[in-house]
Amino acid sequence: MKIDIVSVFPEYFEVLNLSLLGKAQEKGLVEVTAHNLRDWTHDVHHSVDDTPVGGGAGMVMKPEVWSECLDELLHLEPTTVTCDSTADADDTASADAAESAESATEIAANADAVPSTDRPVLIFPNPSAPLFTQQDATELSHANHLLFGCGRYEGYDARIPQYYRAQGVDVREYSIGDYVLNGGEVAVSVMLEAITRLLPGFMGNAASIVEESYTGENALLEHRQYTKPADWRGIKVPDVLLSGDHAKVDRFRRDEALAKTNELRPDLIEALDCSKLDKADRKTLMALGWEVSGAHPRQR
Ligand code: SAM
Repeated sequence: MKIDIVSVFPEYFEVLNLSLLGKAQEKGLVEVTAHNLRDWTHDVHHSVDDTPVGGGAGMVMKPEVWSECLDELLHLEPTTVTCDSTADADDTASADAAESAESATEIAANADAVPSTDRPVLIFPNPSAPLFTQQDATELSHANHLLFGCGRYEGYDARIPQYYRAQGVDVREYSIGDYVLNGGEVAVSVMLEAITRLLPGFMGNAASIVEESYTGENALLEHRQYTKPADWRGIKVPDVLLSGDHAKVDRFRRDEALAKTNELRPDLIEALDCSKLDKADRKTLMALGWEVSGAHPRQR
């Protein structure tokens, strides 16, 4: 997988040479290049930002610098496109309810859910975009080329993703959580780590990414984990984990995952496909107050 990152602080990404991602680069599984956006400026101050049109605080990243950089990295010729700069907003405004507004934004922002392997995916972190999930990480792990653009200041000119979408580029915008960071560098590191650890050969033990939180069809939070000693400062590991009975251990862990998910993320329980639950899963969920006779569990 080829990964290009554009930032005004490319040194930030030296950290990617450490640990498993560093090893993956050494093995040739991943090739990461961090570019300095200022290399595409032409003025003496290497400026990448300007005042917001319409007034307001702070500065906004200029489209001209970004487009020179992205055209070069995506091998595209500069052109002009015809598109309505309010199109995304209009889509959202015309939606009837909050739910449809949300899906309109998602469609506008991340249209190609499954990336094509022969097309680069251009990704901008943005706190006002749809949330980046494990499912996005899984889908993006199938792409051959990812290009991340790190925003700074008040963010980047909204026409940049719009222009590249109109050019046929698979453009995604993602938030990593409901809070505002100073820049996209941390967000890109988060997404990049979540994506690359799913690449075949990345993890020493491939099994360790199979049964994890948020992973798979009927995703749950993972059960609690313990190591030795069995009794540490008066707190004991649950007896069943020491029993050597694999079936009992699996059931205990599964029930714990269901109970933990019920407590912390009932939305994940609601999303479960009941037809994929076994008899014991159903019994546990019923004991936790769920109705499991329909397509998805419903709280009683
Ligand atoms: N004015 C923007 C707003 O209120 O939505 C915040 C801009 S933030 C200070 C600058 C840049 O940091 C953004 O363009 C984005 O690239 C990145 N960023 C900040 N918070 C983020 C988050 N939660 N998820 C993803 N990217 C984020």
